[in-house]
Amino acid sequence: MKQSCTFCGRRKDEVLILIAGNDGYICENCVEQAQEIIEEELGFGKKQFFFDTPKMLKPKHLKEFLDQYVIGQDEAKKALSVAVYNHYKRLNQNDDDDVEIEKSNIVFVGRTGTGKTLLAKSIAKYLKVPFTIVDATVFTEAGYVGEDVESILSRLLQVCSYDVEAAQKGIIYIDEIDKIARKSDNPSITRDVSGEGVQQAMLKLLEGTEVLVPPQGGRKHPDAKMIKLNTSNILFICGGAFDGIERTIAQRLKTNIIGFGVNRGENAVDKEQLLEYVNPQDLKGFGLIPELIGRLPVVTYLKPLDRNALKRILTEPRNALVKQYQKLFAIEGIRLQFEASAVDYIVDQAIKFGLGARGLRSICEAILTDAMYELPSEEGIKEFIIDHNYCEQKISHSKLQRLKKAS
Ligand code: ADP
Repeated sequence: MKQSCTFCGRRKDEVLILIAGNDGYICENCVEQAQEIIEEELGFGKKQFFFDTPKMLKPKHLKEFLDQYVIGQDEAKKALSVAVYNHYKRLNQNDDDDVEIEKSNIVFVGRTGTGKTLLAKSIAKYLKVPFTIVDATVFTEAGYVGEDVESILSRLLQVCSYDVEAAQKGIIYIDEIDKIARKSDNPSITRDVSGEGVQQAMLKLLEGTEVLVPPQGGRKHPDAKMIKLNTSNILFICGGAFDGIERTIAQRLKTNIIGFGVNRGENAVDKEQLLEYVNPQDLKGFGLIPELIGRLPVVTYLKPLDRNALKRILTEPRNALVKQYQKLFAIEGIRLQFEASAVDYIVDQAIKFGLGARGLRSICEAILTDAMYELPSEEGIKEFIIDHNYCEQKISHSKLQRLKKAS
């Protein structure tokens, strides 16, 4: 019998996986579709959220889950896993306990494109809680042009279709937290000039308070009833590049080392590795107010991505780019293959363009767009192999090339 999916009829060479049963086969596309139908029928739709501590929520399990999506960054993964674990313990603690466990909001310090957002997104996916990403730079102190800090909560409510119960146990990722640092030379007259007002406003949300959130449409509909939301059980994860924080860390380390008379050899710490030593004190030096730092007790770091990490990111995670493109081509009945030389070339380009992991996608697009345009109209193509030469040829004709020349 010819091997093909009993459900959709695709042949073995048109799919990635064909699972055999007693009387037939099923491909990965149909498995996925069937799963969606089951979820819908049983009411586990995407908008359904879990609140009980899942049985597999031990920090080690959390980290193992993160390992499937995020390459490297072990320290950050561990810190996040423990923080989330403790967060759930906190949610389950009795109200009459003498010892009250405080929230374990987290700060990720690391360059752009190293996986900060991805970590937050992945953990929310695992926990099946409402999750939203906001950029701290859009916020201004109430009354100034821009968004009020409270609008963070409107977004969280939106993603869970205004299910207040669910939103109150969600996760919020605040990006670019370093950009609201206290500074004196901000020339803007429409923005809260110090950044401190925004930090103060954020403080309230982070420590847990009842906030009246404008419903859909915000200020545009002043008559609409406000929604009351308690933020005490919302986990906040903040991320920032904190450019130049290494200097603060270095200064602190030097004083410590001199102060404790540790031998000189330990004084020489590689700049790239300095981030490993980041602590809340360094954030203060950077312009975050002490009260805010107090509400962000877990500070961890993400390493800059080296060649090897970029290569792994391209091929290893569950939804790695290479796997995504292979799936796109498989739907077309074409087996897409990346030669090792092509993977090396793509990584080289990402490094050259200085775009980090973020650049991988645009480079792959530049290489594969022509093929994705032409192949669907061509008959009988079963396999498409991408090698170094093919990549070079496509990149040299792409807009990316101009970017490189300009820099
Ligand atoms: P940022 O640190 O600026 O928040 P992101 O998490 O948004 O960076 O990363 C941008 C993209 O780069 C992600 O969508 C992901 O595809 C890729 N990426 C970055 N770091 C990693 C990593 N450590 N492992 C896997 N993919 C990564």
